[in-house]
Amino acid sequence: MSAVSPDCDVLIAGGGLVGASLAVALAPLGIRIGLVEAVPPGSDDQPSFDDRTIALSRGSQQILDAIGVWNDVAAEAVAINEIHVSEKGRFGTAQLSAREQGVPALGHVVASRELGRALWSRVSAFANVRAHCPARLSGPAVDAGAIRLQLEREAGPVAVSTGLLVVAEGARSGLRQALGIDASETDYGQVAIVGNVAVAGAPSDCVAHERFTADGPLALLPWRHGRYAFVLARRREAAADAMKLADGEFLALLDQAFGRRLGRFESLGRRSCYPLSLVRAGRIVAPRAAVIGNAAHGLHPVAGQGFNLGLRDVATLAEVVADAVRDGQDHGGAALERYAAWRGRDQRNVVAFTDGLIRLFDLPLAATGVARGAGLALFDILPPVKRLLARETMGLGGRMTRLARGLPL
Ligand SMILES: Cc1cc2nc3c(=O)[nH]c(=O)nc-3n(C[C@H](O)[C@H](O)[C@H](O)COP(=O)(O)OP(=O)(O)OC[C@H]3O[C@@H](n4cnc5c(N)ncnc54)[C@H](O)[C@@H]3O)c2cc1C
Repeated sequence: MSAVSPDCDVLIAGGGLVGASLAVALAPLGIRIGLVEAVPPGSDDQPSFDDRTIALSRGSQQILDAIGVWNDVAAEAVAINEIHVSEKGRFGTAQLSAREQGVPALGHVVASRELGRALWSRVSAFANVRAHCPARLSGPAVDAGAIRLQLEREAGPVAVSTGLLVVAEGARSGLRQALGIDASETDYGQVAIVGNVAVAGAPSDCVAHERFTADGPLALLPWRHGRYAFVLARRREAAADAMKLADGEFLALLDQAFGRRLGRFESLGRRSCYPLSLVRAGRIVAPRAAVIGNAAHGLHPVAGQGFNLGLRDVATLAEVVADAVRDGQDHGGAALERYAAWRGRDQRNVVAFTDGLIRLFDLPLAATGVARGAGLALFDILPPVKRLLARETMGLGGRMTRLARGLPL
């Protein structure tokens, strides 16, 4: 096999939240980057940049700042100063606060559509990043010095080759499969209903609430104009029924799940829904290829960790590629093993934590209720445990990348 000279250095399949972030992170290296996205970012059908709000951890904010995107979303972002976790009908509650942790905010809430706009606007600012949209990649074949693919565009297919292919197509990635990487899927049998709502008389104290109920979890994130963004998870049939409810009936459902501790729910925004499952790739590298974001791990949104985890994939992959490029090494070679080794712990922990939360609170109250309540209460009075979890939740645990420390690549 003779070595081929690739058309580009890094080719990213999928320009959603994670793929677009990687293009922006790598761009300052001056290498040739291709970004292939199936659905135009401004389209109503864009599956990554839609109505959902994203709770960004402090670590994610630092990464977005380091890649020059945070300034474009900061003005509209809403800070999270505290997180309250509780269970309906139980005594235990747990609280995390920015003040206790010695940080200005635990995280921020942003609209995924606005983050997408900011990312794609950065993408278009770099002459060394070539965006192909709408387009798709197919038929990967590994050669000596490159991986060859077909770029399917409206103008017709064209052959492309790259030193490194990055799969960021989301949980249902076809390229991941074409590369021979298996993925497992566990259907939670739940659907998330998202939207935003006003709460009459609620304090504007930037507190996020996570409430577990026997019917599924409800997250309330502080949002603009005194509103809250909500994520309500319900079993599939119950969610279908809830989507059909008139606004007033749906507000009563929120009331029933959360109670009146903040005030009365009113003025409901548009609702949308997402089926929930856990998708895990069997491995995150293959010869000349790396898998990132939801293509590597699609999570239940209960703990708001999916994009945060994906952005840490981005920061890590960008760092190992940058080091290889600077050292004159092959960035599609041994660098990928470093990426896989570095990401293992974080990905395993976050998947186990998120999946564990769903399973624990899905068990009948009688079986675990007291232990769960006691666990929440204990967590609240054990500062070291709290600090540890707070650091992980803020994306500041484990070995941190240069971007997560706010440093350039
Ligand atoms: C209700 C809900 C709430 C959430 N809240 C949070 C939160 O608060 N905090 C958090 O961190 N995370 C949250 N998440 C998770 C977060 O939305 C995802 O982790 C994130 O969208 C993953 O981004 P991605 O780019 O990896 O994948 P996706 O968002 O799935 O994007 C994949 C992109 O690839 C494109 N694509 C797909 N196939 C192809 C192809 N063949 N060729 C070219 N392009 C292709 C798609 O068009 C899309 O643009 C939430 C998720 C849900 C469902």
